[in-house]
Amino acid sequence: MTPTPAFADDTHWEHPHPRRGFFTDTSICIGCKACEVACKEWNRNPADSDYELLGSSYDNTGGLGADTWRHVAFIEQSRDRIEQARESGRALVDLGMPRVGPPAASSSAEPASGGCGCSSGGGGCGSAATTGGASTAQDGDSPVLDTPDFRWLMSSDVCKHCTHAGCLDVCPTGALLRTEYGTVVVQEDICNGCGTCVAGCPFGVIERRDDGLVEPKTQRGAAPMPDTVKVPQDGIAQKCTLCYDRMKDDQTPACAQACPTTSIKYGERETMLESAQKRVAQLHEQGKTEARLYGANPKDGVGGTGSIFLLLDEPEVYGLPPDPRVPTADLPRMFKRAGMAMVGMLALGAVAFTAGDRS
Ligand code: SF4
Ligand code: SF4
Ligand code: SF4
Repeated sequence: MTPTPAFADDTHWEHPHPRRGFFTDTSICIGCKACEVACKEWNRNPADSDYELLGSSYDNTGGLGADTWRHVAFIEQSRDRIEQARESGRALVDLGMPRVGPPAASSSAEPASGGCGCSSGGGGCGSAATTGGASTAQDGDSPVLDTPDFRWLMSSDVCKHCTHAGCLDVCPTGALLRTEYGTVVVQEDICNGCGTCVAGCPFGVIERRDDGLVEPKTQRGAAPMPDTVKVPQDGIAQKCTLCYDRMKDDQTPACAQACPTTSIKYGERETMLESAQKRVAQLHEQGKTEARLYGANPKDGVGGTGSIFLLLDEPEVYGLPPDPRVPTADLPRMFKRAGMAMVGMLALGAVAFTAGDRS
């Protein structure tokens, strides 16, 4: 058991456990929401809707929140959008840049890319794809789930357990904690509900829990109605803990355990990254050039994430920011400039004082 060097460097302390994380492969998700339900059950999180569909999709929860720590997005796509996704994925994989060296003997001899770790649709790794240009090739191991004219993207979203976690950086009480497994959890007995972390998360994951009610001043302190169920941790910031309690007992997180398709994989973060890179290469070989990784790039604005995703379209399509950036990233530069400005003002003051003295 060795610490992940990059992670240990980032947090400035070493720990005996390898970093843990998820690899969520959205290409095999069937949208059953077993993960969402398992998370609610295990964590005793309250329901946040009356199980009514949103009207815009077959979803009923809409997004991550204080009561929904796993959320499965449903996205319908027509043939045009599928083609666009395939083209943008191809652009992500192969920039068409001139390169030095002999040409590859054949496309099948060259390993497909995907280990690039690119996290956004706008980036690229410059490595060659071996797709052969077939947009509907289905001759690999994956089942044929889509028609040429329509597909349904399903994606189970969760806290990213960022390498540079904005929520943790900005929390004034120290309620957010980096665990010995490299995950980020809220200490509910320390959180004072100020909500600073909510603004600090570039993914919009963490949220303060409320009970959905506004209590009139005249009723404060009154005994609750008999059939009222008290919402636990009301007012406290809430999000996925990566099942810290289960992890400490060497158990798989509830969502990953419940997933019937193994779309959610859990383990050491490095192993998850390797699995994700192999899977994206496999999909590229099958002609699914739209497959790309999200959260795998250690040079992105949050230093990579503990939760890695394989997406089949641009991150924005899934409601994910294409270029997430931790809000504290610019602090060293800002402090440096403020320091330089202060030194300059002191120097000017000294010059003015000396000049005034002489006159
Ligand atoms: S995704 Fe947001 S809430 Fe989760 S660790 Fe990163 S900054 Fe914190
Ligand atoms: S790891 Fe645990 S807390 Fe996080 S989404 Fe899965 S079940 Fe919920
Ligand atoms: S991630 Fe797994 S459990 Fe969740 S909706 Fe998809 S298939 Fe179902």
